[in-house]
Amino acid sequence: MDIACDDHLNSIASLFCDSDIDIKAISKSIQDILKAIGEDPEREGLEDTPERVARSYEELLAGYRTDPQKLINGALFDVPYDGMVIVRDIEFYSMCEHHMLPFIGRAHVAYIPQEKIIGLSKIPRIVDMFSRRLQIQEKMTRQIAEFIDAVLKPAGVAVVVEALHMCSMIRGVKKHDSRMTTSTMLGAFRKDMSTRMEFLNNISRGAERLHF
Ligand SMILES: [Zn+2]
Repeated sequence: MDIACDDHLNSIASLFCDSDIDIKAISKSIQDILKAIGEDPEREGLEDTPERVARSYEELLAGYRTDPQKLINGALFDVPYDGMVIVRDIEFYSMCEHHMLPFIGRAHVAYIPQEKIIGLSKIPRIVDMFSRRLQIQEKMTRQIAEFIDAVLKPAGVAVVVEALHMCSMIRGVKKHDSRMTTSTMLGAFRKDMSTRMEFLNNISRGAERLHF
C-alpha cells in the first residue's frame, strides 16, 4: 500500500491506507465458519473454498484501497460549460455492512460544473470506489456526492441510488421487492427546485425496474 493517509482527498474517500487485506486470515476464518456450520472443509467441493472466498472479498471490497489520485489521473478539464452533466444508470455492486450480503443497483449522478469537468468514465469508477466496501446505501450515496463535490467544486452535485438488498430478499421478512432509493443533493440541487426537478425528470425517463 502506498496511498498517502494524510492527503485531503484520501481522507474524504475514507480509505484504509496503511494495511493490505489479509487473505490468509480470511481463509482461516472461512474454514472456521465451514466447521461451525457442521461442514467438512476438507471435502472435495469445499477444499479451495476458503481461499476462493478470501480472493472474492479482495475484489468485492477493493474500494477501501482505491487510490483517488490514480483514479482521477489527469481527467479534470477546464471547460467553460455550466449546464448540467448527468450520468445515469451506473450499475454497481456492494455489500451491506449488517449482513455482508450483496445489494446491487444503479446510481445516477449529476453535477453543474463551475470551472472543471471530469472525464465521463471516471464517474462510474468513483461509484465503484464507494460501493466496493461494506456499506449502507445512505452512506454510500452521500460519500459519492461529497467526493465529487471535493474534486470538482461544482455549483451542485446530485446522487440518486436505487438498489435491491439481498439481505431482505432472501432472509427475514423475505420481501421480494426490497428496493430502496436514496438521494443526496448538494449546492444548486438542494437550493433550486427547478434544477432538482430537471435532474429527477431526466433519470425517471425510460427508467427500467431493477431486477436481479
Ligand atoms: Zn443487510
